Amino acid sequence: MTSFIRPLAILGGMFDPIHLGHLRSAVELRDGLDLEAVWLMPCGTPPHRGNPIVSAAQRLEMVKLAVGAEPGLVVDDREIRRNGPCYSVDTLQAIRAERPDQPLCLVVGQDAFNGFSTWHRWERLFELAHIVVLSRPGGVANWSAALAQQVAARRIDEPAGLRRASAGRVLFWPVTPLGISSTLVRELLAKKRSVRFLVPDAVCEYIEQHNLYR
Ligand code: ATP
Repeated sequence: MTSFIRPLAILGGMFDPIHLGHLRSAVELRDGLDLEAVWLMPCGTPPHRGNPIVSAAQRLEMVKLAVGAEPGLVVDDREIRRNGPCYSVDTLQAIRAERPDQPLCLVVGQDAFNGFSTWHRWERLFELAHIVVLSRPGGVANWSAALAQQVAARRIDEPAGLRRASAGRVLFWPVTPLGISSTLVRELLAKKRSVRFLVPDAVCEYIEQHNLYR
């Protein structure tokens, strides 16, 4: 049976800072998968990571500036508002409770998907959402045996398959290869080099105004 409700995609990340690789991926998901929306969801700062200079609130602010009024792109701040460790499984469980029948898609880049079987309660994630894996320049599939098994059982090749169930499929989605990472942006800024055209202009200005990542 095909769902009449369009899927909702959730693209989580540190967004430290958000860059055009994130935004272009979000737009290509929106346009290619016939989604209700793409939610960009910055995560709270985990205790073991984190840059004392750039707060979670500032990362969130940059995501908001980057998205602006772009149709179909929505900023969701629930992980930043929550205290304590934030696990995707808890976030998806909460969204699933709000939207019992809608196809949900958890979006992860190829690099993040390689480590997927180390995520907290990762097998439960397939019960809560589809997984959409974005291609990334230089990325190679490097999966644990358990993850490879899940992919073999769940893989679909067409986005239409995302509407035939509310969760449980894996779709690999090629996006325009943009060799941009937050690491690259931070490294350039630390060397006092420009990040123009790697991040949106509004984010560039925010970083300059607040003297971030220097
Ligand atoms: P860092 O360099 O700090 O690790 P990042 O650039 O990977 O950061 P994240 O905020 O960790 O950014 O990314 C959020 C999600 O977006 C991850 O699943 C990541 O794989 C994906 N992603 C990031 N950059 C790209 C890109 N250029 N193309 C496709 N996917 C991307």
